[in-house]
Amino acid sequence: METILNYIDGKFRPSASGRSLPNFDPARGRPYSTVPDSDAIDARAAVAAARDAYKTWSRTPIEERAGWLLRVADAISKESAGLARWESIDTGKPITLAAGLDIPRSQINFEFFAKEARDFKGESFISRHSHNVTQYSPLGPVVCISPWNLPLYLLTWKIAPALVTGNTVIAKPSEVTPMTAFRLSHICADLGFPPGVLNILHGRGSEIGATLVGDSAIKAVSFTGSTATGRAIAQATAGSFKKVSLEMGGKNPNIIFADCDFELALETTVRSSFSNQGQICLCGSRILVERSIYHRFRDALVTRTKALIQGDPLHPETQQGALVSQVQMEKVLGYIELAQKEGGRILCGGKRVAPSPELAQGYFVAPTLIEGLGVECRTNQDEIFGPVATLIPFDTEEEAIRMANATRYGLSASVWTRDTQRANRMASSIEAGVVWINAWMLRDLRIPFGGMKDSGVGREGGQYGLRFFSEVKNVCKPGDPS
Ligand code: NAD
Repeated sequence: METILNYIDGKFRPSASGRSLPNFDPARGRPYSTVPDSDAIDARAAVAAARDAYKTWSRTPIEERAGWLLRVADAISKESAGLARWESIDTGKPITLAAGLDIPRSQINFEFFAKEARDFKGESFISRHSHNVTQYSPLGPVVCISPWNLPLYLLTWKIAPALVTGNTVIAKPSEVTPMTAFRLSHICADLGFPPGVLNILHGRGSEIGATLVGDSAIKAVSFTGSTATGRAIAQATAGSFKKVSLEMGGKNPNIIFADCDFELALETTVRSSFSNQGQICLCGSRILVERSIYHRFRDALVTRTKALIQGDPLHPETQQGALVSQVQMEKVLGYIELAQKEGGRILCGGKRVAPSPELAQGYFVAPTLIEGLGVECRTNQDEIFGPVATLIPFDTEEEAIRMANATRYGLSASVWTRDTQRANRMASSIEAGVVWINAWMLRDLRIPFGGMKDSGVGREGGQYGLRFFSEVKNVCKPGDPS
């Protein structure tokens, strides 16, 4: 049993209370490590360390801070094989995904923001009457809270811009997948990262997460997770005026027109519905298909989905691993049951499976496609966040837009068509923070990333991320009217 510890002020510590929580290997359905069940005493220690370290870190030149980020990136790269293995065990995701996406992206997050910081500078607004120059300064200690689906990837996406802009950080990874954040704290300790600049505190969101969010010394909260938690954080911070960025849930449409590149749309739809067992906020869970190709597309999609190899996440051929937890598996199975009660027809999957006798206790659900449901039913309204997608035919472009927008979420959408004008019309009408045309999950880290409606408040990425973690001041002098 591995013992995960908090990382506070450069030191490793159990929770002050000595309490811990079990951490599960979801493919085997059994605990394999423990994680501190931190409380207000641990939060106070981390906040005190972050406040103290802020005095020096905020005045450290940005180039020097960027240098620390590059050293962390380099260390992640050197340890990438081990980190990928931990990520796969901790989440149940295929090792190929952890090694091909999660860990490389975690390394790139540090590298990217170290470089992006070079272009982070004030603007000037000059007229005959006044000369204005803006200055960006750090905020203070900030909290970065991340979910379980892309654990190290999403945590580092927040930590890197927060640190390079001169803030000190208390990171709160998901208690469901704490392992790679713990490995990251070892990387920082081994590098001699200045104590207190990055603190990593483990435990339950309702306890340690809520305590950190409510602490008056914390100047900003960057959160990724469910809409329900995002709402709780928005409510808890409303009176304090601290900066808050919320990246939340989605119910993304994947809109397939008859004139699309059929093979590319099909192959990408398998990935966009089932990558990471459908547990990516950007996954397309509502597949809208133009009626003239509906049956052909549906049948081909069912064939491809049935062919996905489900098995031990650590096996290199596995394409579908386990769901992250028993709670998540039960939630997903509950929605499959609900879909049938609502009149849905299961085309494939629809049940828990045991890929092999040694994985019989694992949280595996077969990739599931459902048809026959209207857009208004709960199956098509609630975020399921698992290997479940529905297929719905549409007749016209207007109908596709109406269906795409008929949810409270607005994170992302994919549109598949060869008609450029139609693609442009769709892009302007769809209510989503990211619209992909003939693509999915094509990412440039400089773009504003985030959601509309109940999917998000604020944007991450590139200069948007750096600005979130900064205060801006305008310095004005009289101009020269001559
Ligand atoms: P969650 O909201 O349950 O937990 C996310 C984090 O918040 C965890 O670290 C948790 O401990 C913490 N937390 C819980 N209650 C808290 C509270 N009251 N105060 C402070 N922190 C608290 O989400 P999850 O189940 O871990 O993740 C899945 C969700 O994340 C899905 O809804 C998914 O769409 C969303 N997500 C969104 C994006 C995006 O970029 N928009 C990316 C990935 C995941």
